[in-house]
Amino acid sequence: PPHSVDVAVIGAGAAGLMAAGRMGQAGLRVVVFDHNDEPGRKILISGGGRCNFTHLDAAPRHYLSANPHFVKSALARYTPADFVRMVDRHHIAWHHKSPGQLFCDGSARQIVNMLMAECPAGQVTFQFGTRLTAVDHCEDRFCLATTAGAFEARSVVLATGGLSIPKLGASSFSYDVAKRFGHSLVPTRAGLVPFVLSGGPEADALRDLAGVSVPSRIKVAKETFSDALLFTHRGLSGPALLQASSYWTHGGILGIDLLPGGDALSFLTDGRRRRPRAALATVLSELLPQRLARFLTHEVEETETMANQPDRRLRGLAERIHRWQIVPAGTEGYAKAEVTCGGIDTRDLSSQNMGSRRVPGLFVIGEAVDVTGWLGGYNFQWAWSSAVAAAGGAVEH
Ligand code: FAD
Repeated sequence: PPHSVDVAVIGAGAAGLMAAGRMGQAGLRVVVFDHNDEPGRKILISGGGRCNFTHLDAAPRHYLSANPHFVKSALARYTPADFVRMVDRHHIAWHHKSPGQLFCDGSARQIVNMLMAECPAGQVTFQFGTRLTAVDHCEDRFCLATTAGAFEARSVVLATGGLSIPKLGASSFSYDVAKRFGHSLVPTRAGLVPFVLSGGPEADALRDLAGVSVPSRIKVAKETFSDALLFTHRGLSGPALLQASSYWTHGGILGIDLLPGGDALSFLTDGRRRRPRAALATVLSELLPQRLARFLTHEVEETETMANQPDRRLRGLAERIHRWQIVPAGTEGYAKAEVTCGGIDTRDLSSQNMGSRRVPGLFVIGEAVDVTGWLGGYNFQWAWSSAVAAAGGAVEH
């Protein structure tokens, strides 16, 4: 006979572990499946190994979704402060990186250990290294065929995340199951991902800048992000560009300000007075990293002194510094993306408890849903909040 449980959670990542703990504590018998041999592999590498586990300001405007209102209910009912209380209860030390952006002082492993410790033994069991071959809805129960045998559950929680980083075990499992149960998908694309530039003289010259990092302001679609820009061997990265990538679509223009808050033209004009005999690149490197200064002035003869730079050239250079426009060839794709934009359409999900409107007892949480957070701890907060909402739904089901 099949193993019978109240809830089967598929995916032992951030959202699945959180949901399992809450449901176990509420007295449900829960089984958690994961095809990896251990839980939370993405948590372990997150935030450079320190897990940026939440952002205290998490609000709907930090999330992309076809329905921007969808996140409101779950985020309001399980807040960043609620998660911090749990972290404190487990005596995990943490710090702000930027205001509100919280990281472990020690290691991301502490977050995985905490989530596992929150799962009451006896109530929550784990099936690691297990593949699911079928999830069917028969009468009022779900039947699951797995490499660890057959299981029957009153509810199923889909928590296998998005497509980012297949090497860590990402798969389209939740999308596929939801689709089979009549749910629609919002087309997916890589988010929080470095840009790739196409070939050509400019891109070749840019490659020499690999490793250079500058403060920047990036305009993309209707959004603006102020943060570091990092030149890479293949294109552009750094937090500002990662943020921009989630809003970028093929063919879109990035407007780049390499001197946010500054005034390049008055600096250059003043520089012409101050250092008439210096080269343009030399003066500009007072303001920008030397390699970048040289790149921006590569069309100017090095022997030409500042005194000989016409206004027109200084204006053109200032324009380039403040309003550089680039059309990236693409992104590094799911292999390098922190998140997946798009996913299971929120239209057929309850924002109160993440329950399917098509199949009672089916819940979808975390990144599998068409909800994508900004960089900065917002994605984990969505995982926690959506998991708690679904746990409430499963308890009532
Ligand atoms: P996941 O945590 O990805 O968990 C999904 C689980 O499902 C995995 O354990 C996987 O093995 C399992 N699974 C997948 N397919 C199957 C299948 N077919 N059968 C069985 N099991 C399956 N967000 C932040 O907020 N802060 C950060 O600091 C941060 N850093 C990141 C760093 C990197 C490098 C990456 C890639 C992401 C980072 N993120 C961060 C994003 C964050 O990790 C995700 O948004 C979050 O983990 C999503 O939680 P989830 O539970 O929905 O999915």
